[in-house]
Amino acid sequence: MKIIFLGAPGAGKGTLAEIVSKKYDIPTISTGNIIRESLKNGTEMGLKAKSFIEAGKLVPDEVVIGIIKERLAKGDCEKGFILDGFPRTIPQAEALEEMGVVIDKVVDIEVSEDIITYRMSGRRVCAQCGSSYHIADKKPKVDGVCDNCGGELVQRSDDKPETVRDRLAVYHEQTEPLIGFYEGKGNLKKVYCQNDLAENTAAVFKALEEKA
Ligand code: AMP
Repeated sequence: MKIIFLGAPGAGKGTLAEIVSKKYDIPTISTGNIIRESLKNGTEMGLKAKSFIEAGKLVPDEVVIGIIKERLAKGDCEKGFILDGFPRTIPQAEALEEMGVVIDKVVDIEVSEDIITYRMSGRRVCAQCGSSYHIADKKPKVDGVCDNCGGELVQRSDDKPETVRDRLAVYHEQTEPLIGFYEGKGNLKKVYCQNDLAENTAAVFKALEEKA
């Protein structure tokens, strides 16, 4: 199963992808996590991406397309994968097609802007493995500590209110057109994820199991 999770930043793509990834036993590929990891390690790609991420802007297409090409070539992607945060522009979606990748299902996660702001302001991520939590809705077992790896939970610098506004504007301008792009291909399912995690998860599985 090759799946794309579309949706605004903060819609819950990462959280839902983690659940689907466990059930289907396929990896989640988050370009955001890969870029943050490179930033932490001070690699050349991390340095190129730094100013864009910090300003809430998109990293240039050629950089993220390179990241995806390299990642999809790894053996664990053979059975399928979930793309979380890629593609984010029409040229990125076209590049995926040029790579010969055939996507089975595009799940468009729809959430109101009020909920997005609430989710992003309360989001905490593990500084070590990137797992995502929420201060009220998805608390770790021990305050400030990642359940998966014991790493420290921190707020992403781009989850601060000023940057969130810019990221939402970028989403509407550059990423939202992908909904029409994939509707045109006939494999998009819109899923309204305004409820609690259990209901949202059930709605996503229903969309994945229905015929496109
Ligand atoms: P995310 O963790 O998916 O919210 O991504 C965080 C940031 O990483 C974004 O605001 C962008 O700066 C960058 N980024 C992640 N994925 C992409 C992508 N597909 N294209 C361009 N920039 C990206």
